Amino acid sequence: ITPIHIIGGGLAGSEAAWQIAQAGQPVILHEMRGVRETDAHKTDALAELVCSNSFRSDDASTNAVGVLHAEMRLAGSLIMRCADAHQVPAGGALAVDRDGFAEAVTEILSAHPLVEIRREEIAGLPPEDWGSTIVATGPLTAPALAEAIRDTTGADALAFFDAIAPIVHFESIDLEKAWFQSRYDKVGPGGTGKDYVNCPLDRDQYESFVAQLIAGDKTEFKQWEGTPYFDGCLPIEVMAERGVETLRHGPMKPMGLTNAHQRDIKPYAVVQLRQDNALGTLYNMVGFQTKLKYADQVRIFRSIPGLENAEFARLGGLHRNTYLNSPTLLDGTLRLKSLPRLRFAGQITGCEGYVESASIGLLAGRFAAAEARGEIVSPPPATSAMGALLGHITGGHLVTDEEPGKRSFQPMNVNFGLFPPITIPREDGKRLRGKEKTIAKKMALSARALEHFAAWLANTSEPESLSEAAE
Ligand code: FAD
Repeated sequence: ITPIHIIGGGLAGSEAAWQIAQAGQPVILHEMRGVRETDAHKTDALAELVCSNSFRSDDASTNAVGVLHAEMRLAGSLIMRCADAHQVPAGGALAVDRDGFAEAVTEILSAHPLVEIRREEIAGLPPEDWGSTIVATGPLTAPALAEAIRDTTGADALAFFDAIAPIVHFESIDLEKAWFQSRYDKVGPGGTGKDYVNCPLDRDQYESFVAQLIAGDKTEFKQWEGTPYFDGCLPIEVMAERGVETLRHGPMKPMGLTNAHQRDIKPYAVVQLRQDNALGTLYNMVGFQTKLKYADQVRIFRSIPGLENAEFARLGGLHRNTYLNSPTLLDGTLRLKSLPRLRFAGQITGCEGYVESASIGLLAGRFAAAEARGEIVSPPPATSAMGALLGHITGGHLVTDEEPGKRSFQPMNVNFGLFPPITIPREDGKRLRGKEKTIAKKMALSARALEHFAAWLANTSEPESLSEAAE
């Protein structure tokens, strides 16, 4: 059987390789790390998480990304299996020990008899004789390949701005000032209700902090001026510039947190740090992605009570994000319309986040495997989380009023706004209102998504059963 090629062994490429191999098809995974670095990855492991260690909410009854987790688990996802096996406490979120997680993905794929891993950079369009190929090279796609894709697609631009948050050594945090608590003492899987380290700021400290962020020395990328940010990953100083209160309603919100050292004084703002590795020796500053210069990051972040002596394992920074204008370029099963032997997966398609990227890898793998078997490729229903995300990428989103050099298509995390609306039945003849109505709607959308996704899975072939012979 002709192997299916995958370029890029990140979140999407690893999941795609697994799905194809589990469907009984051979796969060759080309990953350049080992011979060529990226600006953000630190290891050679497959599926390395480059920034936060969180897969976000694991709540499959009212949260869109939690529903996506559940759908991926139903579809036998390798990424979810390894994430579940390497969980660290994080309230209601699914966070993982990044090294244990990536090592597990690497070991499982390396040991699979139908997967061959080649450590090499693919520096241009893949040769024609490869046939069906999935490009999953992510936000940091190496320049030669990015250039070749840009030429083939005729796109004006392929790369945009994004930013990452700093990581602090736990032992350097002053626990006489900081304290452990999850927001609203929420106890998640494996958690205690005390999963985050919290640093309190009073009003003066907060206002001075915001002023320092605004005045701080930033890295400038002149050639990238006018490049848009993604709202989910806005640098902290850009949020500060939007208004003095912005951070208090965002990553520094004090709600649901009580200072364990001064129970009678409500903190005006709070900086939260989340456990970043299984040992608990590293904590990341939640929502503190930044493009401040390193010296100013150290100076300004050490003005936070509890972090006066903080030692940083990694400082925040800027990075490139590469993505296609997918709604115009890709067909409904993620193939490049102008060159259908190429299928795209992961963040390069215009989804945002680890889970979303892996889920699009899952679909690309299944689509490629079904195509190789000569089957009709059927996308998941638009009512499912995966289908909704796929719809956003492949054309559910209407692309209009584009100015030259700008796009109306933006990378996006999965969210209920992408799902087709639902009408919720009245309870006991009563019309629901406000928060009650919002929750009921989310619950109905989640339940419908899972039901429809399970039905779709049952109607597509069963990769797991085919693969048993291979294992
Ligand atoms: P990746 O995981 O990046 O995998 C792509 C792989 O392709 C890499 O291993 C790369 O080495 C390889 N590759 C590239 N070009 C070639 C080539 N020519 N030949 C061979 N191999 C190649 N998401 C979150 O959910 N939370 C976060 O906190 C977060 N922070 C981020 C911070 C940074 C700095 C970056 C860059 C991204 C961040 N993201 C975050 C987004 C995150 O990277 C993606 O969501 C996810 O990793 C994308 O998965 P992917 O498989 O598409 O790409």
